[in-house]
Amino acid sequence: MTFLDFNFNEQLTEGLLSMGYKTPTAIQQMAIPVVMEGKDIIACAQTGTGKTASYLLPVLNLLGPHPKHQISALILAPTRELAQQIDQQVEGLAYFTEISSQAVFGGGDGIAYEQQKRGITNKVDILIATPGRLISFLASGSLKLNHLQYLILDEADRMLDMGFYDDIMRIISHLPTKRQTLMFSATMPPRIRTLAKSILNNPEQVNIAISQPAAGINQQIYKTFDGQKTKLLTMLLNSGQYTSIIVFASTKEKVKALYKELKAAKLKVNAFHSDITQHEREEILLEFKNKQLPIIIGTDALSRGIDVEGIDLVVNYDVPGDPEDYIHRIGRTARAATTGTAITFVNERDQRKFKNIQQLIEREIDEVPLPPELGEAPQFKPDSDVKKRRNRGGGNKKRPGGGNNNSGGGSKTNGGGGSSNISGGGGQRKPNHNRPRGNKPNNNNGSKPTPTDPS
Ligand code: AMP
Repeated sequence: MTFLDFNFNEQLTEGLLSMGYKTPTAIQQMAIPVVMEGKDIIACAQTGTGKTASYLLPVLNLLGPHPKHQISALILAPTRELAQQIDQQVEGLAYFTEISSQAVFGGGDGIAYEQQKRGITNKVDILIATPGRLISFLASGSLKLNHLQYLILDEADRMLDMGFYDDIMRIISHLPTKRQTLMFSATMPPRIRTLAKSILNNPEQVNIAISQPAAGINQQIYKTFDGQKTKLLTMLLNSGQYTSIIVFASTKEKVKALYKELKAAKLKVNAFHSDITQHEREEILLEFKNKQLPIIIGTDALSRGIDVEGIDLVVNYDVPGDPEDYIHRIGRTARAATTGTAITFVNERDQRKFKNIQQLIEREIDEVPLPPELGEAPQFKPDSDVKKRRNRGGGNKKRPGGGNNNSGGGSKTNGGGGSSNISGGGGQRKPNHNRPRGNKPNNNNGSKPTPTDPS
């Protein structure tokens, strides 16, 4: 299948080709025809699968190259980072059309609020918003959504996790009942199904390999004692194999401590956590995107929706508590059909958490031996002991399907289990999508920041 099979209008086709998209991803192949037919949809797909374009492309096509310049589509997203990224994808895909968009999100100063307000009144076609900020615009009367045709909820599970349920329902009360609604979620817990029932009309369900990491991620673990972790990390970072790296740690205190240690080791690194200002966050992300900053250390705040191309290594300094967070974290690499490496440090205490991850992804992750200069690695309890304890606990969780089941596309190629990461040698580089950047011609009324403008 190619994008030509969708018969998108010429301007949109030009836009997606200039973004470097050639073949539709699995979610795009499934979702685009459903949306084009005018049906509601509930789709289970994680970031990294191409899910944003799976709703943007059909909606952009339905709006046509010469839209009416009234808010016709509303995209709700949990975080400002995701809202900005969606806006950038609209900019790229709609570059050759007259469609204009505006992202509105909280956290900025009064100037940002006024800029966003001006943007809205400039009659945009697509509004991308975090729920809290949208509510304040609706409450102030500066925004009317009575021409809305398309409502999209992106990362719906995350929005509910963040307590946005009431805000979402309030927003929906301002929308026309006759509309097409598209809901995307990385997971499908019962409360998502309940929300879907109340806001979708006879939706079609689209699933791609639920809770499976994207294909192309080479997943590995090191068993380590806590005292060995920072040395091991420093060796990996200094190996010269990787050029764009995210390191996840479980708490902001750990992030801060690790940041100091890596700085002291003369590594070019920055830290991303909830104690830094929005401006600092945006600066760090921009530098990281532009490849001026090779390493970010962060908490799980970084793990969802950060869409940066060419991340070739994700390190879990700690095993994440929630197995799904593991998938979100490692999904920062190997975005849309590229490859990358995800390395997890597992200490004795985290052995159980790690087993839960392997259960969720239904495969065993390759173990790489510690470099000899770091000394002995911890010995873990034999697998059978863990199984026995789990059985005694009466858990009814699914067993790993024979250990090496790659059904979800978790590719186990490359790296040849057991080989070290720290031996130098060229790391893989990823192709750079040739995205259009900068202001669109004619249709922005000068109100919209360019994609690289962090304001
Ligand atoms: P998403 O899952 O929406 O966060 O998308 C992940 C990344 O894949 C983004 O950088 C997109 O620009 C890119 N992408 C989406 N669809 C395609 C495609 N069909 N071919 C290549 N890259 C894509």
